[in-house]
Parts: sequence; C-alpha cells; structure tokens
Amino acid sequence: MLKIGILLGDDIGLEVVPECVKVMKAAAAKTGLEIEWQPLPIGRKAHEALGHTMPASTVEALAGVDGWVQGPIGHNVYPRNDPTWINPPLRKKFELFANIKPVKSYPNLPSLHKNVDIVFLRETTEGMQSSSVVFAGAGEFRPNDEISIGMRVVTRKGANRVAREAFEIARTGGRKKVTALHKEPVYRLVCGMFAEECRKVAKEYPDIQFEEVLIDGFAMKLVMKPQQYDVVVTTNQFGDIVTDEGAGIVGGLGLAPGLVVGERQAMAQATHGSAPDIAGQNIANPYAMIMSGKMLLEWLGRKRGEPRAVEAARLIETAVDQVIAQAEHLTGDLGGKASTTEMGDAIAAAV
Ligand code: NAD
Repeated sequence: MLKIGILLGDDIGLEVVPECVKVMKAAAAKTGLEIEWQPLPIGRKAHEALGHTMPASTVEALAGVDGWVQGPIGHNVYPRNDPTWINPPLRKKFELFANIKPVKSYPNLPSLHKNVDIVFLRETTEGMQSSSVVFAGAGEFRPNDEISIGMRVVTRKGANRVAREAFEIARTGGRKKVTALHKEPVYRLVCGMFAEECRKVAKEYPDIQFEEVLIDGFAMKLVMKPQQYDVVVTTNQFGDIVTDEGAGIVGGLGLAPGLVVGERQAMAQATHGSAPDIAGQNIANPYAMIMSGKMLLEWLGRKRGEPRAVEAARLIETAVDQVIAQAEHLTGDLGGKASTTEMGDAIAAAV
C-alpha cells in the first residue's frame, strides 16, 4: 500500500492535477496496486479555508506519505503581504535533493529536434540558490550599494547523492550513458568537488558509460545535437537553465514533467507554472502533470520494491504514447481541439 498526497495548487493546478490522479488511479486499478490518497490543502484555497497558503497540518501530513502530486503555485493570486512561500521550504524540509526532468520528443508533435530522449537531474538543495541552501539569513548580501556578493555551495554528500540517483536511473531505466556537467577548469573547488563525486560514483557503475562536459559547451551541443545525450546530471543553477533549454527543444512547457526526489519521498511536479491566462477554461495540457505522476509511481516502485507501481507507470507511459500517436484527443497547444478532461479521459481509457 502506497500513501500519496494530492496538493492541487492554484489556477490550472485545479484542472491538471485531477487528470493526473485519474490516470494514476486507472493504472493502479489495472495492476492491483493499492494507494491511499490524501487530499491536502495548499495555495489560495488553503488560505481561504485555513488562513495560510501552506498550513501546518499539510506539512505534518506530508511527513507521513510516500510521495505527493503537487500542482503549480500561483503566487499572483495570493493575498498581498502573505509571507508564505511554498516550494523552497518544502524542498528543504523534506530534503528533496534532485529534480528529475525527462525531455522527450514525439514523432508527430512539433519540436526543434526528433529522437530526443534525455533525463536531466538538477541538484536542488545546494548551489547558488540561497533560499534552499542557507539555514538562516541569505546566501547573498550587499555590503554597500556598489557591490553584491552571492555564494555557491557544493558538498560531497549533495554531489554524491545526485550522481548516484543519476546512475541508478540509467541502470534501472536501461539507459547507457551518464553525462556530468560542470566547469571545473574555472570553478576548481565547487565544480571540482561535484566532478570528483561523479567520478567516484561512476566507478561503482562500470556497466554505464560516463563522460564529463563543460557546461557552456553543453549549452551549444544540446541545441545542435541533443540525440547524443542520455542521462545528464548537474548542479542547481546550471540545471535550472539547461532543463528549460531541454524543454524548449522538444516542444515547450506543456511537455515538461518533473519529479523532485529525496532519500525517502518524492514530489510529482510539472515544470510549468499555474498559467493564470488559461485557468478555468479546461484547455490546459495535462501531459506534464500526468507524466510527473507516472514518474512518481516508477520511483516509488523502485525504492519500495513494488513491481506493481513500476508496471502502473509503464502502463501510463504506453497510454500517453498511444494517445499522442493517435492525435485525436490532444489539447490546443499540441495542435488538437480536446479539452483538459477529454485528453485525461482518453489517457485513462487507454490505460
Ligand atoms: P506559466 O508556466 O504558468 O505559463 C507560461 C505560459 O505557458 C503561459 O502562456 C501558459 O498559458 C502556458 N502554459 C503553462 N502550462 C501550460 C499547460 N499545461 N498547458 C498549456 N499551456 C501552458 O508561467 P508564468 O505565467 O510565468 O507563471 C504563472 C504563475 O505560476 C506565477 O505565479 C509563477 O510564480 C507560478 N509558477 C509556479 C511554479 C511552480 O509552482 N512549480 C513554476 C513556475 C511558475
């Protein structure tokens, strides 16, 4: 039995998260996987009901689940002066240390490149993002109005565990190569430590090819020939940038799922935001959220030794491939005419 939280988020989160849960439920029913679902309030709706965008009761409940599906946060709709912010404190509290973002092209969908199938891992608890790294205070400061100073943190533990996750994904996913991105010749200590840990972990996975590529050259090579990459792992800020670049080469935000993982728990979260411009119209593309849910099942299946969860994930992926190939139930951003619920229904039916 898996325990999975449902956090709708804001705006289109209220539309795409239910489609993701619908598809996950269909796959669980098909494989006999038992899931206890826990709806947990966050965002604008939580503020209206409980006076807080991230209620303490939700945080407490999250500690007891195996993972959760979380919709995007729409900061624009929060009441003015509400100091709450959600994603960085959650990543920190639950030590969600890697954001896994697949980038996959489909033959019949418009994209800059075809035959692309990359899994990116971005470290998420260190690096240059002060909010995630620092216990108190900030990782940047301005001693006078002419100078601003920012810090970058890399630890052996942080680098090692994200590298290990990358090699595990490669091995268990039948993939062949892990590419580590850094710029060690310039950032000798921080990038140097990241590279050292990647090399150490690589030695434990002799079945997986390992290469190192400098981040600036990678940015160019990814645009020109993305087919040469398989699993790609890097530090927080570099990862933040190249994963968006990756989404761009296969068709953009509607096609960019994500899973943020810790040692014990994981959060399914699409890359896109709450898209207030299209919210409430039942036209948002549910693909990214549904594929994020699929990744959660796959990861939990692997970590908990639950083959039915792995099988449920496989069923979802096959169903999504089928619905995309048939191209009869696609949302407007993918060139179709279907609503969010029609596309979700078609994928659930295919499962
Ligand atoms: P956005 O990702 O919400 O939207 C950018 C564009 O992409 C919009 O035109 C939108 O309509 C389109 N789009 C996004 N998702 C789509 C989908 N599933 N189907 C079809 N079209 C889609 O980015 P934004 O407008 O810069 O941000 C809106 C809000 O989301 C802001 O409050 C921002 O802070 C928040 N945000 C939250 C997260 C998160 O919680 N993970 C991530 C990014 C942005």
